Amino acid sequence: MSELLEDHGEYVWVRPQNNSSEFAVPFGARIVRTEKTKTLICDDHKKQLWVTAEDIVKAMHLTSRGDVEDMITLGDLQEYTILRNLENRYSKKLIYTYTGSMLVAINPYQILPIYTHHDVQQYRNKRLHDLPPHIFAISDNAFQQLQRHQANQCIVISGESGAGKTESTKLILQYLSTISGKQSWIEQQIIKANPIMEAFGNAKTMRNDNSSRFGKYIDIRFTEQGSIQGAKIEQYLLEKSRIVFQSTGERNYHIFYSMLAGLTQPELQRLMIREQSPSKYRYLAQGGCYTLEGKSDAEEFAEIRCAMKMLSFASDEMWNIFSLLAAILHLGNLQFRATEVSNLETVEVDDTQNLDCVAKLLGINVSSLNLALTQRTIYVHGEHVVTSLSKDVAFEGRDAFVKALYNAIFVRIVRRINETLDKDASKTLNTIGVLDIFGFENFETNSFEQLCINYANENLQQFFVRHIFKMEQAEYQNEDINWQHIEFHDNQEILDLIGMKPVNIMSLIDEESKFPKGTDQTLLEKLHVQHGNRSIYVKGKTTQTSLFGIRHYAGVVMYNPLGFLEKNRDSFSTDLRAIVKNSKNKYLVDIFPKELPMDTAKKQPTLSVKFRNSLELLMRTLSSAHPFFIRCIKPNESKEPNNFDKDLCVRQLRYSGMMETARIRRAGYPIRHTYREFVERYRLLVPKIGQLDKCDCKQVAQQICKTSLPVSPDLQFGRTKIFLRDDEDTSLEKERSRI
Ligand code: ATP
Ligand code: MG
Repeated sequence: MSELLEDHGEYVWVRPQNNSSEFAVPFGARIVRTEKTKTLICDDHKKQLWVTAEDIVKAMHLTSRGDVEDMITLGDLQEYTILRNLENRYSKKLIYTYTGSMLVAINPYQILPIYTHHDVQQYRNKRLHDLPPHIFAISDNAFQQLQRHQANQCIVISGESGAGKTESTKLILQYLSTISGKQSWIEQQIIKANPIMEAFGNAKTMRNDNSSRFGKYIDIRFTEQGSIQGAKIEQYLLEKSRIVFQSTGERNYHIFYSMLAGLTQPELQRLMIREQSPSKYRYLAQGGCYTLEGKSDAEEFAEIRCAMKMLSFASDEMWNIFSLLAAILHLGNLQFRATEVSNLETVEVDDTQNLDCVAKLLGINVSSLNLALTQRTIYVHGEHVVTSLSKDVAFEGRDAFVKALYNAIFVRIVRRINETLDKDASKTLNTIGVLDIFGFENFETNSFEQLCINYANENLQQFFVRHIFKMEQAEYQNEDINWQHIEFHDNQEILDLIGMKPVNIMSLIDEESKFPKGTDQTLLEKLHVQHGNRSIYVKGKTTQTSLFGIRHYAGVVMYNPLGFLEKNRDSFSTDLRAIVKNSKNKYLVDIFPKELPMDTAKKQPTLSVKFRNSLELLMRTLSSAHPFFIRCIKPNESKEPNNFDKDLCVRQLRYSGMMETARIRRAGYPIRHTYREFVERYRLLVPKIGQLDKCDCKQVAQQICKTSLPVSPDLQFGRTKIFLRDDEDTSLEKERSRI
């Protein structure tokens, strides 16, 4: 190593200094001076420091000194080389970088002038690597592939909250609707579906002021001539807990605030809304955050109404939706009072005003509503038995109802949007699908939602790895080289454990949810018994005995089973269900699924069944399309421009599956050069090579390898490239540095 450094190693990789985080990785630096026992280096931020010989990991490959547009061309493909490349580009406001056909996008947290009409035109009909990496290039490529092969395409966007998935989705839609032609009504409708979905499904969180609290897949249908014919939106797993609870600094769904700010006085009166300030509503006030910087809720409401009109929501339909939202606000403020009847804790509604409002808006008789909120009817030996609820249980029952109600509104809105966008669905036309879905999650406390989200991500990870693996094999075949089977990190075992093989975790949760005596504790015991001795299943240690863990591809996540069964049952009181069924409010009756058996909540499909079904469908759709991948990266936690937090980025690179690309490449022939590049770099190793234009570079490459490498090296000569393993690359570099 020292030999390398003294002669040629001007740039080196240095072990991280004073950083013991698991995400600390070597950084790049230039050698200023070397003394006997120490070396003075200068890092990218022009900071100089002395390090020892042990601190120096290795010489830096030429390709890592500046930056490259496609990370596949990095001579040394490692986590830290990828990181440096991204950071170098980000510092020049180049937020897009390829890894093969995958696009890495770093959230700039500033408006960049790179999405103009001129930019759209620039990227039209170009090959992927003709122009600098751009989200428009990916969009255009998907469109070209669709037209050329008349085959479905999909663009899978992933990344953590605030990384830029939804903004990327919008840019893709903007691009596709611009190039597909005439900017007709349907294109505008597709674009306008977005503000509606965001109003009802996005909220301010600590990590993102406009965080999507649901996953979505938008499939855009094109005619053979390439103009947009329609679209269909699929939504996944809206976060329901937010409707009744928000953490400090967070808000409920945008629509509530914009509605309060934007309704006219007569409208407010009709909805019996006396207070316009969100702070007066329990369901809006828990996070202590009411307004958003740079956003006017009232203006937004006008835009939402306008968008709903464009998507052919009738005015009475819109009014029905706002009435239900108002009912939710009144329900949240409803007061209960604990009472006692023959030593038993009971409850009564202590708030006739709010109760009246709710009853009117829901089209339900006040006294039946009162009873349904405070009592429970159960069936024992074929007979109705009515019991009174305690105050806590009454609150829980109300919240469960509100969650179901809002979810039903959301599902109906998406369905209505689809009725407008997806009119002529009978024709089978090719589509481009865009998936904007929650990334891998690992919080302090992880619940059932995280299990579902991470299961979805395991599925996507497998889809991604299989795809890259296939591409790598295809490259070997194109180049006509002999290759051995490449081992890759397969996460099938995790998929089996969570949701695929018999007695998987999801099915155990389901079983326990239906079992009358099932509790979160008995669930945990069953999980431990069934899976306790698997290496990918983790039992909580001393302080975490009430948890179970899964070794996900992106790391271990510990789950707290508290509340799992309730969330999975996904239902609310049968008494409330019964009065809703008989409501005079036709819209309300209509948005709840019809054929539910009223007496047995048990028979309803559980959340895990619904989620697994829709995920299975999604995976089938994705698998039958040609995929593109976009990995969004959040550069810092403070939503600031020009701030690249390395540890944070490394963590995302690890979770993003980007390292799988490197891993699969390393398992095969990680280093590859075109013959010309190879000869340019190593020509010094053999004497007397003439002008490169005049010689057969493949032959010269063979000659170089013969003279400079040990006998029978592990390498392959392809049609246009030479493929090397790490050892051969190191030997060549050593030889080169000797000269
Ligand atoms: P979540 O999972 O919470 O929904 P997300 O990945 O969808 O997060 P976005 O809502 O797309 O994140 O992005 C968060 C914010 O970052 C945006 O509101 C915007 O301010 C900024 N942003 C993202 N991408 C870009 C971009 N390409 N140009 C400018 N700003 C951007
Ligand atoms: Mg989003």
